[in-house]
Amino acid sequence: MGRIMELALDQGCRPALAGEFTQRAYLGGRLDLAAAEAVAQLVAANSQVEARLALSALAGGIAQRLRPIRESVTLAGAAVEAAVDFPDEAPEIIGPQLSQSLTQDAITPLKELLADRARRGAFMDGGTVVICGRPNAGKSSLFNRLLGSQRAIVTAQAGTTRDSLAEGALLGGVACRLIDTAGLGQASNELDRLAQGSARQAIGSAHLALVMLDGSVALQAEDLEVIKLCADMPCIIVQGKSDLEAASQPELGGLSSVLRLSSLSGQGIDQLCQAIGQKLTGGAPEPQPGEVMVSLRQGLALQRCLEAVIQAKLGLDASDLQPELVSLDIAEALEALGEADGQDASDGVIDAVFENFCVGK
Ligand code: GDP
Repeated sequence: MGRIMELALDQGCRPALAGEFTQRAYLGGRLDLAAAEAVAQLVAANSQVEARLALSALAGGIAQRLRPIRESVTLAGAAVEAAVDFPDEAPEIIGPQLSQSLTQDAITPLKELLADRARRGAFMDGGTVVICGRPNAGKSSLFNRLLGSQRAIVTAQAGTTRDSLAEGALLGGVACRLIDTAGLGQASNELDRLAQGSARQAIGSAHLALVMLDGSVALQAEDLEVIKLCADMPCIIVQGKSDLEAASQPELGGLSSVLRLSSLSGQGIDQLCQAIGQKLTGGAPEPQPGEVMVSLRQGLALQRCLEAVIQAKLGLDASDLQPELVSLDIAEALEALGEADGQDASDGVIDAVFENFCVGK
């Protein structure tokens, strides 16, 4: 393969840029921007659900969902422009039904799309799951078991994991970035302090923490510290080493989301994966074939669109109607909508979409 590349390059060829083939299809009018973005999502999909969502987007699902919204905002824009041109007739042109239909056909569906994204975004974007706990609790063993490989070093000696290790894994139907961290507790030297600082940072930016406890011994002060550290974020308390005789751990009595498992035998691992999926998605149903969900980028644009449409509606409802100002809000809403569905997207938006591609494609 390398030799073929060399020969081709010698003959004057050059390697394709990231996303170049899809960009050419877009520029040639064979794909719209939302479909081009869906190709990137499909290439990067880490789970069946992610691939399914990308296929729905590729089939034009997003543009279809946004079409009635675009029609409603465009219609309102036309009425407002007419009111600017014929100020005397403005009250008749802009009746109360214009504001009502903006609510019904634009504001409500935009809110629904954004709420759905907030509720089920993990199916599309995945989640970051961090394993934390005191040294020797069994973190690296769980990390390896969830990955199905011996990625992290496991020893009976404490303090083997210094840098946080991160790997991709499909857990409970959600594509996750799984992170194994250094043990938290007494830091006896500078290296320990740095390793624990990086562990705390990883915990702070994760969507979910798995607090690893050794279920075969009584809890130590360090374990309680870690439980406290994760108390304000979504977390699952994992009592590991269930293949050994269980120790009494009365401190866990009042806590929810406690799971017993053994990384050695695999007992309880399936239940943990299910619980991870449940926590990351809030138990929301996974998207079905044909269902569409907006991407992070589209979501930000639609949020901007929603705010502009709400502003336009307030302007339409105002007693001292000023069509010029409403028309600015409508223009802003249409621009944001164009960013979301790729119609009339600016060069910056187009570049941002193609930057996410791997080489070629
Ligand atoms: P970490 O320091 O928290 O990453 O802990 P490790 O994963 O390195 O494990 C510490 C020790 O506990 C090692 O000797 C492991 O073999 C042992 N260990 C981890 N998980 C289990 C388990 O489920 N059952 C048993 N019996 N031993 C385990």
